[in-house]
Amino acid sequence: MTTLTNFIGGEAVPPASGAYIDDIEPATGRPYARVPDSDARDVDAAVAAARGAFPAWSRTTAAERSRLLLAIADRLRDAAPELARAESVDTGKPLKLAASVDIPRSESNFRFFATAILHTQSELHATDTSHLNYTLRRPVGAVACIAPWNLPLYLLTWKVAPALAAGCTVVAKPSEITPMTAFLLSRIAADAGLPPGVLNVVHGLGSKTGPPLTGHPGIAAISFTGGTQTGRAIAESAAPRFKKLALELGGKNASLVFGDADMEAAVRTGLLGAFTNQGQVCHCGSRILVDRAAYAAYVERFVAATRTLRVGDPLEADTEQGAVVSKAQYDKVLAAIDHARGEGGTIACGGAPARPAGARCKDGLFIQPTVILDLPPDCRTNQEEIFGPVVTISPFDGEDEAVAIANGTRYGLSASVWTRDLARAHRVADRLDTGVVWVNSWMHRDLRVPFGGIKDSGVGREGGLEALHFFTDPKNVCIPVPER
Ligand code: NAD
Repeated sequence: MTTLTNFIGGEAVPPASGAYIDDIEPATGRPYARVPDSDARDVDAAVAAARGAFPAWSRTTAAERSRLLLAIADRLRDAAPELARAESVDTGKPLKLAASVDIPRSESNFRFFATAILHTQSELHATDTSHLNYTLRRPVGAVACIAPWNLPLYLLTWKVAPALAAGCTVVAKPSEITPMTAFLLSRIAADAGLPPGVLNVVHGLGSKTGPPLTGHPGIAAISFTGGTQTGRAIAESAAPRFKKLALELGGKNASLVFGDADMEAAVRTGLLGAFTNQGQVCHCGSRILVDRAAYAAYVERFVAATRTLRVGDPLEADTEQGAVVSKAQYDKVLAAIDHARGEGGTIACGGAPARPAGARCKDGLFIQPTVILDLPPDCRTNQEEIFGPVVTISPFDGEDEAVAIANGTRYGLSASVWTRDLARAHRVADRLDTGVVWVNSWMHRDLRVPFGGIKDSGVGREGGLEALHFFTDPKNVCIPVPER
């Protein structure tokens, strides 16, 4: 069994407690690594290292930071097969998904921000002819980057790369459920020559390491992705010190399929939107809303396509659905399906554990992709995030009702709209209360665009300049212009 270490001040260090927690492989249900059970002492050491490294790192040239971040990107590329396998084993996601999405995007996160800082500009405002105002952007200091388990390296690097590029130093806290690729990243960072203390990684339980980190007076900003409840606790711990906060939280995203849509594409992409990564993507379209005129045909095609999804060992090449991430998540998803039955939902397919062939996965955490019909928009199944391979399909009558149902939850992360009517696409995109709208597409990513949600889906945005601005404080400098 591999024993993971924290990464503090450029060194691999064991947790102060000497204690470890098990890292379980979801596909087998068995422990395969040991994760440091860190506590406030490890957090203090990591924050001290990050603060110690900050003045020097914040003064390096953009070209030097860019060089080092590109060196990390190169190593992520070179280690891609090992990283993809580690991500698949740790999360239960199909190896081919980790190899085609998680790891390449982690590399491009570093490459994108490493090169962005070579091209960024700042603002200058000429006040009449008398004064010039220009904006300096200073890195905020040592920051906390806290990531969830669903896209472990992808979402961690989405924070760490802009923070380092902006000149901040980082204490990263990966999910205790999926720590492996963050551990490998810490080795890569050291190998790439990142100075000690610039990136620190503390492993451990959220409940034990989270509050000492987010409440630490030495941490200037917190970038967090995870559940809404955790986000609320973090906001409370950060508020008394007025820390900068970016929270990317849960979602209950709607896909709106209008009668004039390309149905083949709406079903194909709707399937990806519902079940990619076993439905454990914050942007998953877990509520599909279909124009009543097209509803029966859509359901028939969608259910037929769902039945063809191959659930199996994540390491096998033809697997389309792997295991869900943990026993807690497995129990939660199955309980949510039972609850949907109790609410009067019709299980059109799935609705039970899946049993892939072969001895290796006999105790794995697999759930059949599940489609639920006949539930009203306001029931719990249609209101609360399940975060598993479960989707509901419901009919709507007219655009107003579609928008009202889509907007009728406490979340506001993303939506997708399916129509051939361009005017309708613009109109509905404008009316949806979400941070992201995809039209006739889903999860198409451009790293320059603002990324995040509203309402209970979070505050602040990641991506492009938004991220670089988050990790810097703008300072206005006003200077008189000599009279001509
Ligand atoms: P989580 O909130 O349980 O944990 C996220 C991270 O926070 C983990 O590293 C955890 O250890 C840490 N943590 C837990 N308690 C903490 C505390 N009190 N203080 C500080 N840190 C703490 O979320 P999860 O279960 O790992 O991830 C699933 C959730 O993440 C879902 O709700 C999903 O929608 C959301 N998510 C959102 C986005 C987005 O971009 N909006 C992306 C991916 C996942």
